[in-house]
Amino acid sequence: MAENTLMEKLVSLAKRRGFVFQSSEIYGGLGSVWDYGPLGVELKKNVKDRWWRAMVHARDDIEGLDAAILMHPRVWEASGHVAGFTDPLVDCKQCKNRFRADDKRIKGTPGQPDAQCPVCGSKGTLTEPRLFNLMFKTFMGPVEEQAAIVYLRPETAQGIYVNYQNVLNSSRQRVPFGIAQIGKAFRNEITPGNFIFRTREFEQMEMQFFVKPGTDMEWFERWREWRMEWHRSIGLTPTKLRWHAHGPGELAHYAKAAYDIEYEFPFGWQEIEGVHNRSDFDLGRHQEFSGKKLEYFDQAANERYLPYIVETSAGADRVTLTLMADAYREENVEGETRVVLGFDPGIAPIKAGVFPLVKKDGMPELADRIYHDLKKQFPVFYDDSGAIGRRYRRMDEAGTPFCITVDGETAAGQTVTVRARDAMTQERVAIAQLGEYIGSRIRGG
Ligand code: ATP
Repeated sequence: MAENTLMEKLVSLAKRRGFVFQSSEIYGGLGSVWDYGPLGVELKKNVKDRWWRAMVHARDDIEGLDAAILMHPRVWEASGHVAGFTDPLVDCKQCKNRFRADDKRIKGTPGQPDAQCPVCGSKGTLTEPRLFNLMFKTFMGPVEEQAAIVYLRPETAQGIYVNYQNVLNSSRQRVPFGIAQIGKAFRNEITPGNFIFRTREFEQMEMQFFVKPGTDMEWFERWREWRMEWHRSIGLTPTKLRWHAHGPGELAHYAKAAYDIEYEFPFGWQEIEGVHNRSDFDLGRHQEFSGKKLEYFDQAANERYLPYIVETSAGADRVTLTLMADAYREENVEGETRVVLGFDPGIAPIKAGVFPLVKKDGMPELADRIYHDLKKQFPVFYDDSGAIGRRYRRMDEAGTPFCITVDGETAAGQTVTVRARDAMTQERVAIAQLGEYIGSRIRGG
C-alpha cells in the first residue's frame, strides 16, 4: 500500500466510522483541530485509562493530578516558554504566506534576493527569519491589555511542578515519587499535520518523577524501560517501535538526557513519547521566580535538596493515531477486500457486536436481551440491518473483536455463535458464559 494512501484511507475510515472528524467541518474546518466521534472518544479514553492504570493505580509511588489549563503568567517565564518556545519564521511579502525558516521547500537564503517563495514562486520576497512564540494567548478579566495576558498551557508538566509541594504535603509520599496528569495542551504549531499527529489542541499524558540527585540516571533508565513496555502492552507492533537518543545539539535547555520513543508511521519514524532527565532545572526556576523554597527535606538522612525530575511525556492523540495506523490492514477474502482495524481487544472501542441472524422467529428479542445484559459490562453494538456478512464487515472496520449472532439454535440450546474478528472462525458459546468469555479476553495490562 502506498504510504500516503494509507494515511488517506485512515482519515476516510475515521470519518466514515465515527472515529475522528474535522473541527467545525460545516464551516470549512479549522486548521489542524479535530473532534473525536463516538468510536474515537472510546478509543482515546481506553488509551488514557490504560495509561492511568499503569502509571497511577498500579503503583504506590505515583499520585494523580488535574491542574487547570490557565496558569499564572509568571509560570511561563520561569519555564522558559515566554523567551524560548519559539520557531524562526519567514513571511513572503508578495503572497503573505508564512513558513518555518527551515522549510525544505524554500530555495536560497530567506532575507536575501536569491530566496524563492515556495508558494507563489516570487524571488527576493521572503523576510529574514523572525522568532514566533507558539503559545496561544488570551486575556483574563474584562480588559484586553498587556497586564491581563494569560496563556493556554503548551504542556501539562508545569501544573505538576507548581503543585509538587501541595501533593507532597497532602499525601504520604516521600522522594522518590511521581505525579501523573492527563490534560489538554495547546500549541500554535506552524507545520501541523498528518491528521491527528501534530495538532494545535491536543492531550498529553505526563508523569514527573521526583528523585534524589545522583539517583536520576538510574531512574531515567528504569522509566525508559517501563514506558517502552507500556507501548507494547497496548498492542503496538514491537518492531515498529524504537529509541531515538537526543544528541548534544538536540537536547532541550532543561534536559540532562533525553530519549524519544519513535513509531514507524506511514510518513516515517516519528516521536510518540519523550523520556527526559530534566535535572533540577524546573524546581530551581520556580524557586527563583516565585521566591518560595521548593527544597525537599529528607528526614532519614537529615538533608535538604532540590529533587531532580525524570519526565515521561506522551500524546494521547498521537498514541491513538499510532494504534489506528498499526491496526489497519486490508485482506482479500473470497475476492473481496476486507478492511480490519486489528486492535488489541482491551483497546478496541466496541467489544462485541450483537446480531439476530434474521428479523423473525424470536431472534431479535433474544439478541436484544443479550445486548442489554452485556451493555452493563462493556460497550457493545446492536445491528440487525443487512446481510450478516455486511454486519461483520462493519464491525471489522470498527475494530470490534467479537460478533455474537443469535440464530435458529439459540432458543433451544441457549447458545450463540461468537465470531472472532482476526481468524474469522466461529464457535458456539452458552449465553450464560458470554460475559466471562468476552471479559477474560479484554482484560489487558
Ligand atoms: P514534536 O517535535 O513531534 O512536535 P515535541 O518534541 O515538541 O514534539 P514534547 O514537547 O516532548 O514534543 O511533547 C511530548 C509529547 O506530546 C510528544 O511526544 C507528542 O506525543 C505530544 N505532542 C507534542 N506536540 C503535539 C502536537 N502538536 N500534537 C499532538 N501531540 C503532540
